[in-house]
Amino acid sequence: MNDRAQRPRTTLIEAGRRKEWRGRLVNPPVERASTILFDDVAQLRSTRASLGTYNYGLQGTATHWALAEALTDLEPGAAGTALYPTGLAAITMPLLAVLSPGDELLVPDNVYGPTRHFCDTFLKRYGVSTRYYDPLVGTGIRDLVGGSTHAILLESPGSLTMEVQDVPGICSVARERGIVTLLDNTWATPLFYSAIAAGVDISLLAATKYVGGHADVMLGTATATQDHYPALQQASWDLGQSISPDDAWLASRGLRTMAVRLKAHETSALAIAEWLKAQPQVGRVLHPALPDCPGHEYWKRDFKGSSGLFSFELEGDRDAFVNSLELFGIGYSWGGYESLALPVDPKRTITEAPAPNLVRLHIGLEDPQDLIDDLRSALDRLD
Ligand SMILES: *Cc1c(COP(=O)(O)O)cnc(C)c1O
Repeated sequence: MNDRAQRPRTTLIEAGRRKEWRGRLVNPPVERASTILFDDVAQLRSTRASLGTYNYGLQGTATHWALAEALTDLEPGAAGTALYPTGLAAITMPLLAVLSPGDELLVPDNVYGPTRHFCDTFLKRYGVSTRYYDPLVGTGIRDLVGGSTHAILLESPGSLTMEVQDVPGICSVARERGIVTLLDNTWATPLFYSAIAAGVDISLLAATKYVGGHADVMLGTATATQDHYPALQQASWDLGQSISPDDAWLASRGLRTMAVRLKAHETSALAIAEWLKAQPQVGRVLHPALPDCPGHEYWKRDFKGSSGLFSFELEGDRDAFVNSLELFGIGYSWGGYESLALPVDPKRTITEAPAPNLVRLHIGLEDPQDLIDDLRSALDRLD
């Protein structure tokens, strides 16, 4: 890395490609290792477990360090990045790293479903209680914070219903009270939302989505400030978290094109969301960049762009609609180059559940006109 001020698109190309890691190749190669050999016992004794130092497979190789460094460089104010085998692990492991029995965790009601399940089962069993909050609470979070509140999880926009949060507002309250904040930043990525600069302590990504970008790798990342990174990294080693160098390499490869892919996802998704809004069978379009979306004002204030995932309300048989789409796949996850459609039924416990007619779309890199034609045919078939 260098200290020259540069824009994120340039960082995306330069970051992590240290000469000592890649030699004369463009990309640091896949280095597989469990055992790493020392020259002598003195060298073995003097080597400490750390990133960037060959020690043991758990601490990774240059393939891993290159990815971690690139993600750190993309978050102004961050000190380091820990890598996890899935996006879900990049949420659960950092929570385990910061919470202790007796602590309370605040979680938005629209949180990613498996995160909710983890809080309600695993964390509960370990004596951590979870209090769900309205994602639109903003600085009103002050009234929910109690003496045992130790961490606040944020997810913006949230899963399925896409509410955008007042992240800086919530983080400023948390800072005053010494509460740790963790943001699931998967939808925006560091390119469209600078989480650490907004006051977040630990920024989480399901790198499975836009970092990988090709629906062929599972990976998670947690990027943190100097106050939190060393303990987070140590906890990930204590918990035995290690990712394959092939997966790290795929993620680094995905990262190089993330800016151009995201821009294309953004343009197409906006065109399709606007088109859907004008259709008589469509109710609200929950896209953070459109005014129907709760928290849209925070998106306008804070975000540098919008990505390819949004939901909308459909009058008519959702399953028949999704089944009759030809260019949209039916399946979990998102963030790849291909379009996907799913009927979704969000679980809510403290806010009102949305009407049972939501469809979630991920807009891929196909020609948007073909996607609109496909959606139009499926809507026509409903009538
Ligand atoms: C997909 C997703 C995750 C989990 O990522 P995996 O790699 O599938 O485990 C976490 N958070 C959000 C918001 C997601 O959409």
